[in-house]
Amino acid sequence: MKAWLKFSPRIVNKSIISEAIKKYDIDFNILRANITPRGGKMLVEISGPDEGKGIKFIEEAGIEVQPAMRVVKKDRDKCVDCGACLSLCPVNAICMEDDWEVKIDDQKCIGCSFCVNSCPTKAIMLFE
Ligand code: SF4
Ligand code: SF4
Repeated sequence: MKAWLKFSPRIVNKSIISEAIKKYDIDFNILRANITPRGGKMLVEISGPDEGKGIKFIEEAGIEVQPAMRVVKKDRDKCVDCGACLSLCPVNAICMEDDWEVKIDDQKCIGCSFCVNSCPTKAIMLFE
């Protein structure tokens, strides 16, 4: 699953994630992170047969886990389907449909924000 993990200042220096990885043998892919001594959050992909147990462990240790069904949002009214964002996406999450409408695949998106920063009409926003 893809999720935002939120860290309070109280737990930001604790090795909760590495403990969860060791204990439950889960794969932990960090897609975005903004962590300071005052806390912060990261967008991650968590997988493995004991993924559920690993998530329960980190929640019980004080990390807030918020599933990220969508990472970016495209404003249909602002998008002019220019296609500028297509070639910039490193995971091919953006495509142009047969009707020339540009669509984003939420499952593939890793939240790199290249498309957000490159869109000339500011049609794409990052969910945070
Ligand atoms: S760059 Fe912006 S306006 Fe162009 S297709 Fe992508 S989202 Fe739409
Ligand atoms: S945020 Fe990155 S991965 Fe997601 S659609 Fe935009 S360019 Fe692709």
